[in-house]
Amino acid sequence: MSERIDLEARYCAQNYHPLPVVLTRAEGASVWDENGKKYLDMMSAYSAVSHGHGHDRLVELVREQVGRLNIVSRAFYTDKLGPFLEKACTLTGQDMALPMNTGAEAVETAIKAARKWAYTVKGVASDNAEIIACRGNFHGRTTTVVAMSDEPQYKEGFGPFPPGFRLVDYGDIGALEAAITGNTAAFLVEPIQGEGGIVVPPAGYLKAAAELCRERNVLFIADEIQTGLGRTGRMLACEHEDVHPDGLILGKALGGGILPVSMFLARREVMNVFRPGDHGSTFGGNPLAAAVGLEALTILVDDELPQRSATMGDYLMDQLRAIDSPLISEIRGRGLFIGVEIDPALCSARQVCEMLMQRGLLSKETHETVVRLAPPLIISQDEIDWAVTQIREVLAEIDETRLAS
Ligand SMILES: *Cc1c(COP(=O)(O)O)cnc(C)c1O
Repeated sequence: MSERIDLEARYCAQNYHPLPVVLTRAEGASVWDENGKKYLDMMSAYSAVSHGHGHDRLVELVREQVGRLNIVSRAFYTDKLGPFLEKACTLTGQDMALPMNTGAEAVETAIKAARKWAYTVKGVASDNAEIIACRGNFHGRTTTVVAMSDEPQYKEGFGPFPPGFRLVDYGDIGALEAAITGNTAAFLVEPIQGEGGIVVPPAGYLKAAAELCRERNVLFIADEIQTGLGRTGRMLACEHEDVHPDGLILGKALGGGILPVSMFLARREVMNVFRPGDHGSTFGGNPLAAAVGLEALTILVDDELPQRSATMGDYLMDQLRAIDSPLISEIRGRGLFIGVEIDPALCSARQVCEMLMQRGLLSKETHETVVRLAPPLIISQDEIDWAVTQIREVLAEIDETRLAS
């Protein structure tokens, strides 16, 4: 085994189970390991690298900005934050934004905004606000955010958890309706559940949920940290159902594959609950991150990455559906956000990912049974063809070994 793997395993907390490959370089949709072997990245850092690795314009911009102004904190105004947030609001149809760094922080921000809105605008009695989330959700890893999770491993050993969350089945509009009370501040939902296994809800669900929330004076907050910014073939996944959320959470691709950049966006009435000192972040909205975020958004539009995701995603989906393998129990997704469900009785998704890695295709299993295919949105058709060939051959190989034994 590589010395670098040993070293990382010795000093790094064992909170991940990485595939045994040591990456040293990347460009576009490709990454290289320490031995110079090239891989196609079909993971793109859980969609943080939608622009591709080391996008020219972003690298150029970072070089220029790093030499000028990087971190000053929000104790001062900068020339970068306003233009960045203006662009984010314009592209998403929101009024105001609160910049943070990681996705979990932006989710925390949304929770605080929803609760304070419930107390100061809706009139919920203090400390009684409730937020409804969905079973199978993933919104991040802080103690408050995992309080919303129904994944035992995310919670075991980390309690006690804060109250104020309620779970309903994802895709079940009746369950949402039944769960709403006078104390409900918000419904927090992923338009497609990413870490939950690329789970697409029934058609019309988001639209019905948003309408229900409006009728009952509940905020509809979309966590588009993974589905947003072109991943599903539209700028926002909510657009597939013409849904305009009251609150929107972005992260991952917002940093252009260069830096952690996240934000919570909302209607003015919601964002106005924050007063100076209510909430903050030393690094949130720093000029380097703001410059990168603005350029990342501009590139999405200039290079028509959402459209590209739609076209290439349809193509990849068709090619995958043409694979005839008993190991595949379902293929689902939207745009370049696709999950291939492997029948766990026949083999594990981890085994598929390890065999793909040996052939130079990097992916990662989610929830033990799903192979995630979410490449940079700049992936070419040739690269997709090559990937599909590897997948077809690996599945055939596993099937032959299985039948032979
Ligand atoms: C990744 C993710 C998060 C958490 O983002 P971090 O940057 O890892 O904190 C939250 N919500 C969704 C839907 C995600 O996919």
